[in-house]
Amino acid sequence: MVKVVKFGGSSLASAEQFKKVADIIHADDARKFVVPSAPGKRFSSDTKVTDMLYTCYDIAAKGKGFDDKFNEIKKRYYEIIEGLGLDLSLEKEFDAIRAGFIGKAGRDFAASRGEFLNGKIMAAYLGYEFIDAAEVIHFNDNGTYDADLTDISMKERLNGIERAVIPGFYGVMPNDTIKTFSRGGSDITGSIVAAAVAADLYENWTDTSGFLTTDPRIVKDPAPITTITYRELRELSYMGASVFHEDAIFPVRKAGIAINIKNTNKPEDPGTLIVESTSQKPAYTITGIAGKKGFTVINIEKDMMNAELGFGRKVLEVFEKNNISFEHMPSGIDTMSVIVSQQEFEPKEQEVLAGLHRNCHPDAIDIETDLALIAVVGRAMKSNRGTAGRIFSALAHAHINVKMIDQGSSELNVIIGVSESDFEEAVKAIYDIFVTAKL
Ligand code: ASP
Repeated sequence: MVKVVKFGGSSLASAEQFKKVADIIHADDARKFVVPSAPGKRFSSDTKVTDMLYTCYDIAAKGKGFDDKFNEIKKRYYEIIEGLGLDLSLEKEFDAIRAGFIGKAGRDFAASRGEFLNGKIMAAYLGYEFIDAAEVIHFNDNGTYDADLTDISMKERLNGIERAVIPGFYGVMPNDTIKTFSRGGSDITGSIVAAAVAADLYENWTDTSGFLTTDPRIVKDPAPITTITYRELRELSYMGASVFHEDAIFPVRKAGIAINIKNTNKPEDPGTLIVESTSQKPAYTITGIAGKKGFTVINIEKDMMNAELGFGRKVLEVFEKNNISFEHMPSGIDTMSVIVSQQEFEPKEQEVLAGLHRNCHPDAIDIETDLALIAVVGRAMKSNRGTAGRIFSALAHAHINVKMIDQGSSELNVIIGVSESDFEEAVKAIYDIFVTAKL
């Protein structure tokens, strides 16, 4: 049995946290490959080392003195090393990083050193081999992740190695410079390593016991999700539920490896298991509710629209030309609505309107802003009658006007558009009818 274990920044923020992590690793012999993040926040007003590195590099890149900031970063690491009682010097590494800052090695190089140094400490503490992610994780010239080359390097390098620490978040470009994934990207590294070593499980250790059925800022102590499918998770994370980097799903999913989100501070909690498919019935008809504010609807009206071949294409062409991706497109006989992100749309509003007039000759265009979208997601909705009915009666009882409804053909989710001012109340009403009332 082989498990790849990734630990997030808060799990590695101090020597105390490192000790918890080592206990977790030692408690299960299968935990052979460890992917650490950089030290995160120790308390809520603290600064993540990644952010300290960005700030420090920006000062260095302007040619200003950066010693004070650099020493603060060093101090974070030496506090951990001393707290663990390790006989480890990182002076050579710090000298090389300083030289990289002076030589303008790039912001990605700077940020990546957070994981690199934490990996060094972790490897020394566990007595595992350290493998630099720059040896095994590759990016293409255009900055996208190179899965094929990574697969080859990873297999070659890991051949015959039983246990190792591989820092998260970064890899190398064809020109040998360091490149990082987007923020939170250590999750992706963990997933890539899990796929490369054909792990039985990818454990992702963080500071919450997995996913909750909804946002705890809206509903107090929402029920946890014990098992969720990849597709359900995609729907929920796309709509704002965040615990795990969205792109981290793909490498393990392709390899059929499940992910277990676990809590470093409560290792006894089962956490959330993310799987391809499952016969396990969810505790409720719905698996989760997520949502986001900040959408705009563009309503387009034209008599006999339904008879006009290619009308939808002409509409979408305008959005494509303006580099705006659409979220949903509900339509009627003579109306079509396009829902887009307000932030993307606003700066190009007049270009889009002019384009629609030119391309589609509509009778009227009407714009509505400040829309919130709510996704009600659940694999059990398919086999339960009356789910939509219950959602809408709950919203009606809460006096909430539904502006848009979209149910995907997969019957995995129902998307509901409400006014932003109704967003929180709508989420609560839906939560109550399914979870509190256990329907
Ligand atoms: N340390 C990086 C960040 O703060 C990457 C990660 O934690 O996954 O985004």
